[in-house]
Amino acid sequence: MSNCIFCKIVAGILPSYKVYEDEDVLAFLDIAPVNHGHVLVIPKKHFANMEEIPEDILMKVLRVVKKIGLSLKRGLKYKGYNIVESNDPVAGQEVAHIHFHIIPRLNKNEFSWPHKSYKEGEAQEVVEKIKNNI
Ligand code: AMP
Ligand code: ZN
Repeated sequence: MSNCIFCKIVAGILPSYKVYEDEDVLAFLDIAPVNHGHVLVIPKKHFANMEEIPEDILMKVLRVVKKIGLSLKRGLKYKGYNIVESNDPVAGQEVAHIHFHIIPRLNKNEFSWPHKSYKEGEAQEVVEKIKNNI
C-alpha cells in the first residue's frame, strides 16, 4: 500500500464518492470523469495489474463491473459505456492498483482507438507469437 492512492481510499484516509462496497470490492466516482458517472471498480486488496490479481478476486471485481454498467444505463440514462483496464505505464496506467474504468458514453464520436493494418503474412506471425506464449 504505502503510497497507493486507491489503498488510501479503501482505508478511508482519502475521500471518495462511493457507489458500491462489499468485503472485497469498492466502486467510486473517478475524480476527473470522461463523462458524469465515470466509475472506477477496484479490489480492496492491492494488486498492481491483471497479471497480479488472483482469478477469484478478479471475478468478484468483474461481477461489480457488470452491475455498475447496467446501473449507468438505468440510473443515468446512458445508452452505452466502455470498460477500460490499463496495464503498465506504457498503456496509460497511472495508478498501480488495478482498476476498471466504466466510462459512460454520450455518442460514438467522442473518442476512438487508432487503427493499423497487417501486411501479407504479418497476422500469422503475430498469431504464432501469441499462441506460443499462452
Ligand atoms: P489510469 O490512468 O487508468 O491509471 O486511471 C487512474 C484514474 O484515477 C484517472 O482517471 C484519475 O482521474 C483517477 N483518480 C486519481 N485520483 C483519484 C481520486 N483520489 N479519486 C478518484 N479518482 C481518482
Ligand atoms: Zn493500492
